[in-house]
Parts: sequence; C-alpha cells; structure tokens
Amino acid sequence: MLEDIIALDKKYYMNTFGERLPVCFDRGEGIKLYADNGDVYYDFLGGIAVNALGHSHPRLVNALKTQVEKLIHTSSLYYIENQARLAQKLVENSCADKAFFCNSGAEANEGAFKLAKIYFYKKGMEKYEIISLDHSFHGRTLATVAATGQPHYQAPYKPLTPGFKQIRPNSLEAVSEAVTDKTAAIMIELIQGESGVHPMDVEYAKGLRKLCDEKGILLIIDEVQTGMGRTGKLFAHQLYGIEPDIFTCAKALGGGVPIGAVCAKAEVAAAFEPGDHGTTFGGNPLATAAGLAVFEAIEEEHLVENARSMGRIFEERLNELSKKHRDKIVDVRCAGLLVGVELKPEIAKGVFDRLFKKKILASLCKGLTIRIAPPLNITADEIDLFISALDEALSEV
Ligand SMILES: *Cc1c(COP(=O)(O)O)cnc(C)c1O
Repeated sequence: MLEDIIALDKKYYMNTFGERLPVCFDRGEGIKLYADNGDVYYDFLGGIAVNALGHSHPRLVNALKTQVEKLIHTSSLYYIENQARLAQKLVENSCADKAFFCNSGAEANEGAFKLAKIYFYKKGMEKYEIISLDHSFHGRTLATVAATGQPHYQAPYKPLTPGFKQIRPNSLEAVSEAVTDKTAAIMIELIQGESGVHPMDVEYAKGLRKLCDEKGILLIIDEVQTGMGRTGKLFAHQLYGIEPDIFTCAKALGGGVPIGAVCAKAEVAAAFEPGDHGTTFGGNPLATAAGLAVFEAIEEEHLVENARSMGRIFEERLNELSKKHRDKIVDVRCAGLLVGVELKPEIAKGVFDRLFKKKILASLCKGLTIRIAPPLNITADEIDLFISALDEALSEV
C-alpha cells in the first residue's frame, strides 16, 4: 500500500526529495506506468530523459536477462567485450575518438574535469580553471556543484571546490572577460535542461568553439540530458554543427541502467595514462549490455529520426496551443523531444498539479516551465494525449 511505503520512506530515507508525488509504480510498458493500485499514468518525463526506449522495451529487457544469467561484474582488471563494443558505438557515431565509462552524469562530468586538468598538467602548463554558465546543471558531487550555476545548490557546500566560475549564457563577451591564462576548459550544456529547456544560440556555440581554438582552451559539452537522440540528432553538438574536445553522456545511455561516459578527441584522451583515472563499476558487463541494447534499438528503430519528426509535431501542436492560451503560455521551447512550455508564474503549479491528476507525468522547472522528455519511440497519438490534457489543464486554471 502507498501509505505504508510513504511511512517507511519518511522513517528511514533521508529527506532530500521532500514530499514526493503520491504514487509508487510497480511496472511499465512503453510510455505507460502502472501504479501499485492499478492506476495507469503516461510517462512524458521518461525518468527525466533516461527511459529513451520507454519502459520494458523487449530488446533492453532481453539483453539484460541474457547478461544477468552470464555475468554481471568482473573488474576493470580484465577486458570486457560489451565495454569495448559500446565505446566503438559512441566513437563511430560522434566526433570523439575514445570513450570511458562511469556510473552517472555527475561522475562523467568529474571525469571530464580531471581529463581537462591532466591534459594541461602533462603539457607542463598551469591551467586548471573551468568556466561554466549561470542556470546550468552539471550534477551533485562537490566539483559538479561548483560548476552548477545555481546559488541554491552551492550555498550549503561552501567553500566550493576552487577553480570554477560561472558566467552569463549566450554572451561571447562574458566568455572573453572570464578567460584567463589559467583557463583549462569551458563546460556548457547546449540546451540547458534542468533550468527549463533553454537552448544556446547557434552563433554563440560556434563562437565559443572558435574562441576556445584561438585561446587553446578545451570545450566540454555536457550531453548528459541532450545525448542519445533526444534533440533529433544523436548528440546536440551535431545539431549545432560544432565538435567539442570532450563531451559527457549518461541518463539515456543505459535506458535506465546507471551508466555514464566521458568521450574525447584522441589528443585529449591520451592525457589519461595507466593509473590516472579509474572506476570499480564503470562500464561493467551489465551496464554496457544495457548501453549496447539501447544503441541498437535507436539505430534499428530509427529513433533519432523519430525524435526529430515527433519533436516537430510537438512543437506545432504546442504553438497552436499557445495561440489559444496566449494569456497563460509564455514560451514554447523545443529541441526534438526535449520540450519546455513556460507558463505564467501564477498558474504554472496549478497546471502541473492538474496534469498529474490527469495521470500525465512531466516536471516543473523553476516553478515556471513544464518540461517533458518522453521516450524517443513516442507516437503522434501519444503526443495528442499530452496536448489535450495540457489544453484541458490550461482551461481549468
Ligand atoms: C542530470 C544531469 C546531470 C547529472 O547526472 P546524474 O546522473 O544525476 O549525476 C549532469 N548534467 C546534466 C546536463 C544533467 O541533466
């Protein structure tokens, strides 16, 4: 029973998530989630951009079943076939030459910081500063909190890891002002997810690449949320037509099984030599079996293309809706299937609560923006379901 679970949680679980939504899911299929009382929900948030294939996708389920029966974990002391094959997939489908696996987005970003720092260390150069952007989100570890440009995440953990600073997004002038001879890297999300789906300008992204080249600074793109087809390209940097020196990936990479990746150009990746970095669990046979199954499904079911075409439908429908509710919808921001609908502050929470009552799962960013990141295999009918629920919710507030 839900009440019993809530009581256990309150008694034994650290209260970092406060009052959660009052539901506990038992199983899922595609975009549907079934609560333990039998209620059916529609998961338009996809576990926050994680469940790229939806729930219980047969290819992922079978790959995991098969792998669990053979082998779950060995050690990084030995070669791992799935790990090598998943690295090959990432490299062959991006601008990177090498990959390294870990267990989460934050850990991937930590790996990227370490790689940027060691790259200059091995050149005998004293460059260690990392610049990131206001309103960014890079994770919850100490270094990634220092890179996350949101004061409320940083305040309790001061003094922060030194060497990080944040600047305003979409301003090359701000970058030029912030860069010093100690700057090692600039890390950005091309589309800021957690803050409510805020895309960078293409000119800015291209300018940043040029500026990094001119000043000998590494460009790191955090693709933890935007990667694996979410934006209608496999990676957002492909959408923007730029090549980062390092990019990180996690969330959708394992379709729900924890895995992250640091991907880098050959020259940069070469800075990691034996003993310089490591992991116990990262890229183990089970996690990389999941990654391979997700990758194969994305390829064989043309899910990047589907994200692009369904993303367009979403955008059209939402633009129609924003004409109808122009007094309530402030902005619609879409990048493939990463979608943000910014609402007037006084109604946003009400709309979110009504969507939940209608069994539609989304998230509310900054109390303003309804964010959705549905499975990449979403259909036009499922999009209509969301649109009519949102239409109703908007009419009710
Ligand atoms: C979710 C997220 C992270 C952190 O990932 P975890 O797996 O929670 O550590 C980092 N960067 C971005 C852009 C994210 O969306």
